[in-house]
Amino acid sequence: MRIGILALQGAFDAHARACEKLGHRTTEIRKVSDLEGIEGLILPGGESSTQLRLLDEAGLAAPLATRIESGIPVLATCAGAILLAREVRSPTQWSFGLLDCTITRNAYGRQLDSLETVSDDGRVPLVFIRAPRIDSVGSRVEVLATYQGSPVLVRQGAITAATFHPELSADLSPLGGVWTSEHPDRNLMGRRGGKEGDEL
Ligand code: GLN
Repeated sequence: MRIGILALQGAFDAHARACEKLGHRTTEIRKVSDLEGIEGLILPGGESSTQLRLLDEAGLAAPLATRIESGIPVLATCAGAILLAREVRSPTQWSFGLLDCTITRNAYGRQLDSLETVSDDGRVPLVFIRAPRIDSVGSRVEVLATYQGSPVLVRQGAITAATFHPELSADLSPLGGVWTSEHPDRNLMGRRGGKEGDEL
């Protein structure tokens, strides 16, 4: 599969290495024409406010939104999840609004500047770097993993979003099912779909 990785800023290089280990080809996305022919898309971690400015400068925001809305599989990690959220807090900032959740930037304060741990059920390795927290999810969002009771890995249609950095773990298995329409990790991780407006 040919996966486009938004490469304006942040952790795009580690994603490329992880994709290659999983047998995918990658293309770095820096301009609109780079979107041609991609079959999947990664929005990497980094600094979401900087990424928004660079997206705007490159004229990429609208073409990227169109590509995501076309239904290609998308993996959004950390800042990428912030870009897609319906509502961003702390501070409020513009977002694509394509993932039905509210998310708070840098929500864990200094304790979680950087932390390696596992999900509440012990199954998903978690690398957090100045992580956001998903505060609530809409009814279309499936929660695949939680940490301290908050969703850290969610899926809405073809969009999978993580508040951690799966590409930095030695165990890449949480990425295994991201690119298939049937998510094999769904059963492994259990289903905990939230209800509209749930404060998790
Ligand atoms: N703190 C960053 C932000 O708010 C996200 C951190 C990350 O992507 N690892 O945009």
